[in-house]
Amino acid sequence: MKKKLFLFDIDGVLMKVGLKPPMDYWKIAVQKEFGIETSINDIYNIGKTDKAILIEMLAFKGVKNSDVKKLQLTLEHLGQLGANYIEAHGVAAVLNADKFVAASKQITCVGLLTGNCTRRALAKINALGLSGYFSPVIGAFGEQAEKRSDLVEIAILDAEKKTGIAFAKSDVYIIGDSVRDIWCAQEAGVKVIAVATGPESFETLQKEKPDFLFEDFSNAEEMLQQVLGA
Ligand SMILES: [Mg+2]
Repeated sequence: MKKKLFLFDIDGVLMKVGLKPPMDYWKIAVQKEFGIETSINDIYNIGKTDKAILIEMLAFKGVKNSDVKKLQLTLEHLGQLGANYIEAHGVAAVLNADKFVAASKQITCVGLLTGNCTRRALAKINALGLSGYFSPVIGAFGEQAEKRSDLVEIAILDAEKKTGIAFAKSDVYIIGDSVRDIWCAQEAGVKVIAVATGPESFETLQKEKPDFLFEDFSNAEEMLQQVLGA
């Protein structure tokens, strides 16, 4: 069997997300660079990249076509503040997600595809105790594209660079918890394993017709058999 590439989303897949996470660091980062008051709660952020969230938050306050450098600095600041917050407060793991990652790692190449900035993403992976599975770090992150589906190509190229394997799109799977993960995979022409462990329901995900859909990670081996044995 040809080697597959599994690209994991983090929020809602590996890490539990609350309905109202304490995200004051968004407010602080934007205030510092743009001098305006914003709130992450002004927009729907599930499944979006940090870059897209930032642009949308600014647009909500009437700020458009922002300077690229300013956006970059804000994302860097955000990544740092987010990482500090995670290191101080810890994170909650999605039940059995670690078992699925471990089982996947035995037979596939595993990486990350997340809307989170690199720094914040890696702080989460570290806090979850999953760094060993994602080493070397392969994938694509929230500061690298506004559109989530643009992260797929970046992640595939990164995987090729670090493993020497040129993965065909038919061998690439996104593991995500939101409709945006499903759209992302469909737009990019790769497969998607949706898991209803995030804020969006099984039924909501089902409507978008993911290649595979599971309630949770309660049976890692069986999931893998279904996905890879198909
Ligand atoms: Mg997610």
